[in-house]
Amino acid sequence: MATAGDPELVLDAKALLGEGAIWNAALQQLHWIDIVGRRVFTYDPATGENRAADVGQMVGTVVPRAGGGLMLALHEGFAGFDPDTGRVTLLPRPPEHDPAIARFNDGKCDPAGRFWAGTMALVKRPNPPGKLYRLDADGSVRVMLRDVGTSNGIAWTLDRRTMYYIDTPLRRVDAFDYDDATGAIANRRTVITIPPDLGRPDGSTLDAEGMLWIAMYNGWSVTRWNPRTGERLQTIRLPVARVTSCAFGGPDLDTLYLTSARTGLTDEQLAAQPLAGGVFQVKPGVRGVRASAYQG
Ligand code: CA
Repeated sequence: MATAGDPELVLDAKALLGEGAIWNAALQQLHWIDIVGRRVFTYDPATGENRAADVGQMVGTVVPRAGGGLMLALHEGFAGFDPDTGRVTLLPRPPEHDPAIARFNDGKCDPAGRFWAGTMALVKRPNPPGKLYRLDADGSVRVMLRDVGTSNGIAWTLDRRTMYYIDTPLRRVDAFDYDDATGAIANRRTVITIPPDLGRPDGSTLDAEGMLWIAMYNGWSVTRWNPRTGERLQTIRLPVARVTSCAFGGPDLDTLYLTSARTGLTDEQLAAQPLAGGVFQVKPGVRGVRASAYQG
């Protein structure tokens, strides 16, 4: 594998909680979000333009829709979004979701085009109220996991047989057997354990070699892991502590885009990392795989 170049700043966006990076292969543009800033962005590397849209409530993730437009996981639930008109169409409240105690967070589409997104507590509670949901193409929503702390990175292998999932406070990556025909998951087991000194595992994406990239919140880095051995293969340092999500993009899917956060940092910490909240890119020497769009 080629050596990684140095990460470069793409956008000095100063996002509060930049997140949700995903490459839209149909448009050759990068979508990302500011969860706390309630905005969805579309960055076009060809022009340098970064279009922003206020979606009116906290937004946990964004995915492209196969028929055009975008899907969001908003604080209250799943929604369609037309970035051209700014129109948000909220779907019915997902089962067991109480927006007073939890909000939607990270999520992506599985290889069959179902949209998975999970929730996290807004306030500390003895039992974590987070869940992992699956929105099918027919608009139906199911609870797939309960007792989730902070639902984060989710990815599926190229052979469509395994799903990787990060519940951040557990500091690990779990794998499930995934049935592409039905969307069922089974046989949960831990495949990667994250040492505390690396920070907390946040967003993730798979590369074409089947290795998992994980954004390290409070870890000043993005890391590459072999999910079959649990071994850490590579660490790319960033000039910001709170690296939140990662996605391969560009015409050859060889550019790794990274988002970051500035929320919760003290003035002193912000002085030491003035680019916090920015979007970065790096060429890590390996290609990614195309992200799935929502088929509904
Ligand atoms: Ca996240």
